[in-house]
Amino acid sequence: MTVPLRIGVASCFFHADPARPIFKGKTLLYLEESLAHWLMAGGVAPQLLPTPSGAVGADDLLAGVDGLVLQGGTDVAPASYGEAPLKPEWAGDRVRDRYETELVRAAMTLDRPVLGVCRGLQMLNVIFGGSLLQDIATQCPGFLTHREFERYDRLQHDIAIEPDSWLAQRHLGNHRCRVNSVHHQAIKTLGRGLQVEARSVPDGLVEAVRYEPEGTQRPGPWVYAVQWHPEFQDPDDRSLLPTAPLREMFLEATAKRRHRRSAGGRSVA
Ligand code: MN
Repeated sequence: MTVPLRIGVASCFFHADPARPIFKGKTLLYLEESLAHWLMAGGVAPQLLPTPSGAVGADDLLAGVDGLVLQGGTDVAPASYGEAPLKPEWAGDRVRDRYETELVRAAMTLDRPVLGVCRGLQMLNVIFGGSLLQDIATQCPGFLTHREFERYDRLQHDIAIEPDSWLAQRHLGNHRCRVNSVHHQAIKTLGRGLQVEARSVPDGLVEAVRYEPEGTQRPGPWVYAVQWHPEFQDPDDRSLLPTAPLREMFLEATAKRRHRRSAGGRSVA
């Protein structure tokens, strides 16, 4: 029997809230169900990674899994990329930013592939030194609507996939390039080593990236991120870009590295 790949999922946070009747004043770490189920559709066992504590550090948490997924959720804090929030409600979650940064660094050191979804793409861009638009509607008037509360994950737009991208190789051109859109932040300046895989049409915001620094030896760390939510999509909806190829790409990279570790009989770290 083959052991399923173990995929660590970085937690979302409900910070301590004195008004919450359940677990009053306690920090809750959570996993959104459809993301877990989307991963499980690829035959893997997702597990939630808590915040490092005591003797158990981020590298110990990552050593226990084969790959890492960053979920969507709250805003990345402008402070994490050297800006002040334009509005108080856009101050983001600095605690979660630091936690995810630690996990991503440990994953890259231990050669665990990283897949970012929505906020995950934005966080990775910031980790690699890029910056974000704090609010697309305010800072880029005339652009598409990328988030709308009423339509939520039913809001969609077209994307253009870059010809030399991993996404283009996976899809072989036989698809509708349409995705959902549930984000009000977006990449402003691209992080070092990131390459654009897809952009929204016609406004040209970055909707997918891969990590591939110029002049480094392949295979380096495997890092990929999308701005849309594959896990919110109905897999039978033929009007949208299929999401299985993205999952396969991540899981193949993850399986390959686990195989390499076990073949070597030692940790790659
Ligand atoms: Mn979008």
